[in-house]
Amino acid sequence: MNLTGQQLIGYRESAKSDETFPAFDPCNGAGLETFFYEATEKEIGEAVELAESVFSDFRDLSAEARADFLEAICEETMALGDKLLERATAETGHPLARCEMERNRIIQQAHLFSELIREGSWADARIDLGDANRQPMPKPDVRSMMQPIGPIAVFGASNFPIAISVLGADTISAFAAGCPVIVKAHPAHPGTCELAARAILGAAKRCNMPEGIFSMIHGRSTEVGSCLVQHPGIMAAAFTGSLAGGRALMDVAAARPVPIPFYAEMGSVNPIFVLPGALTQKKEQIAAGFVTSLTMGVGQFCTNPGLVAGIGSDDWDNFSELVAKKVSEFAPSTMLHAGIHEAYTKGIELRNNSAVLELIGKSSASPNPDACEAAAYVFQTSRQGIMSDPTLLDELFGPVSTLVNCEGVDDMVAVAEKLDGSLSASVHGTEEDLIDFHPLLSVLQRKAGRLIFNGYPVGIEVCHSIHHGGPYPAASHSFFTSIGTRCIERFVRPVCYQDWPDSQLPLELQNANPRDVWRLVDGARSNSALKV
Ligand code: NAP
Repeated sequence: MNLTGQQLIGYRESAKSDETFPAFDPCNGAGLETFFYEATEKEIGEAVELAESVFSDFRDLSAEARADFLEAICEETMALGDKLLERATAETGHPLARCEMERNRIIQQAHLFSELIREGSWADARIDLGDANRQPMPKPDVRSMMQPIGPIAVFGASNFPIAISVLGADTISAFAAGCPVIVKAHPAHPGTCELAARAILGAAKRCNMPEGIFSMIHGRSTEVGSCLVQHPGIMAAAFTGSLAGGRALMDVAAARPVPIPFYAEMGSVNPIFVLPGALTQKKEQIAAGFVTSLTMGVGQFCTNPGLVAGIGSDDWDNFSELVAKKVSEFAPSTMLHAGIHEAYTKGIELRNNSAVLELIGKSSASPNPDACEAAAYVFQTSRQGIMSDPTLLDELFGPVSTLVNCEGVDDMVAVAEKLDGSLSASVHGTEEDLIDFHPLLSVLQRKAGRLIFNGYPVGIEVCHSIHHGGPYPAASHSFFTSIGTRCIERFVRPVCYQDWPDSQLPLELQNANPRDVWRLVDGARSNSALKV
């Protein structure tokens, strides 16, 4: 399959702009197959209007039909074979095995969503039966359930070219809910995006989906993304990426004449707190696990641990030495693209010049800047040091972290209080430590979306219970997740039917319960038919 670099508007291709941009291999700066056309405002409008025109048809399809479509997407993705993996490797510098792992993740995720919608209880059907004889007023029959909201704009991040991009949870959960999707392809891996989009379109054709439930547009300028979010036909947007990008688009969404929800998952510091009991018992193990989590994927994970706090002691000094030694063994490796490499290099320069940070370890080999390579770094400071410069608590995307020496529980609590919202917070401790550091835990509960005990933040389980979000700036809405089946909740809203004729209700709310779903009937869980 040859790439065309054109906008994919339903089943049609379009290339109206004179402006194109290339794709690069970050390892050597070489250009890759084809140039990609910048989407015009007209093309963006065509994609959204097509999505709007087929929304009702898509929404009204049975859950079975949508589940079959998700499974067909898996088959079409697998049918791309190594081409998808090779293109993702070429565009990002990720090893092939990493890209394969990402593909496994999206396949597992799509199956999880197809099971979810076949089972059906996710739609939260509720029924409060009416009572014409209630005094002093008759009670109406009130029923409600979640319904899809309309066309969704999706923006993926550069660091997961397969798992958090065109085929990621945003697109799949929107389809599962019954919403059409328009993806803004990531300009750092546009070829991977085109291949993935063609897999979705192939599945849509096979399953006789209405044309327009999926479109993909390209763009390297920020105007393309802004124009998409501003289009009145877009009902919500899902974004994964930087705080700068997420915040800019979030403001665009809020400034529309009709504001829409903008679900941004952004960067995060993901602090680790190492408590004294655990430090004494297993400092080697914790140091090794931490450095693996820090350097995996060249530190380019939203869950990368950017700060580790411990209480000053001989154990903590030993731990710091072990970390510094392990970091020195990390061989500099290629980052995702020149922009991320440049931001990392500048951030390291600022940290090297900081009056409050001491560099205690770095990769012993020198990075090759022409191959966008990054070395790993670990700095050290005190509680006063980290708190004197708020920029040190911002995410620096790459394999860098700061060890913070605290003087006791209160110091640690003060550091935790100073942190912004985070996707995760990890605690290494014994059960006794947890009792002694209870005030710390109660702060972390307010600060993070996922609390990890004796583990590391990188590596997220895709499942029903996972929460990948957190208080701002980790996410724009702390209530919602961008990974796991709960992310479907972003693209639906409750619709309530009062005294509606049974035959005209959605299947999930009908008396006979033809979909056999669990419902809340007069306050009690039930999957029985109603005898009314
Ligand atoms: P990015 O530069 O923010 O780009 C993400 C997408 O947003 C791209 O399509 C980009 O297109 C678009 N965009 C960025 N700024 C924009 C603006 N002002 N207006 C319109 N569109 C805009 O992020 P990235 O470098 O790809 O990804 C790395 C970041 O993602 C890291 O900070 C990482 O922590 C975060 N991340 C978060 C999660 C999570 O789940 N929370 C997961 C993975 C990564 P253009 O390039 O054309 O602007």
